[in-house]
Amino acid sequence: MNSLLSLQDISYSYHSLKEETPALSNISFEVSDGEFLAIVGPSGCGKSTLLSIIAGLLMPEQGTVFYKDRALSCCGSENSVKIGYMLQHDHLFEWRTIYQNVILGLELNHTLNAKNRDYVLKLLKDYELYSFKDKKPSELSGGMRQRAALIRTMAIRPDLLLLDEPFSALDSQTRLNVSADIAQIIRNTHMTAILITHDLAEAVTLADRVLVLSKRPACVKCQMPIQFNIDRHDPMMIRNTLEYQLYFNQLWEVLTHEQTIFQSA
Ligand code: ADP
Ligand code: MG
Repeated sequence: MNSLLSLQDISYSYHSLKEETPALSNISFEVSDGEFLAIVGPSGCGKSTLLSIIAGLLMPEQGTVFYKDRALSCCGSENSVKIGYMLQHDHLFEWRTIYQNVILGLELNHTLNAKNRDYVLKLLKDYELYSFKDKKPSELSGGMRQRAALIRTMAIRPDLLLLDEPFSALDSQTRLNVSADIAQIIRNTHMTAILITHDLAEAVTLADRVLVLSKRPACVKCQMPIQFNIDRHDPMMIRNTLEYQLYFNQLWEVLTHEQTIFQSA
């Protein structure tokens, strides 16, 4: 597969008058077209910082982000890559209906044409929100709101989907189902996605590859391709497989032992 995104030797520190906080240290990895990568790492290690750099919202102090062999420019304006960014909180606007919320990105991009309206309606139907399209966000469950937020992100047809801990606000049972649903949506549309999570079980269950970051300043400790012999739609079935246990245990070892660093991808 071709590489869609390539990070080469990325480092970043936050600066204040008093101190410097190194957040990322010499991070390099690639993401293939259509791949679903999960990035795990301890809280505060620099995961969101890394995603902001990939999105072009922060400029790395050192290193370069390449999108299809072209260096990304900061703040998006000159980039040919369309990036969809979904955050922890769904950020749906209560004064807008679900339909009005999911077309927001298209309105802001001035691309709300008949074709894109039809696409949004199709997404709402496919992901079982069509009959709720005229409701307000507060009338929906947490899982439905997350699906609406994903549709809003997907409506702009991003080349790359960035998900920053999008399931953290959900209770554990809802989280299991919603995350599996959303991963299925991403797979069905062959979208390239990067999921940030601090939940190793979630990463192994959902992604094609898991990348483990160290404590701050984050460096890449390990990358592991994940493959199952059964379909991924049922997260509980995946978690009962032997492969799952093996992947989980190996990655857990890497995550919890500060010294272990290996690359298997
Ligand atoms: P994560 O997403 O892995 O929890 P972040 O990328 O949000 O971590 O933050 C990495 C580190 O950088 C943290 O220690 C945090 O305190 C620090 N940090 C994040 N944003 C800022 C900022 N705007 N100014 C100074 N320090 C920051
Ligand atoms: Mg974060």
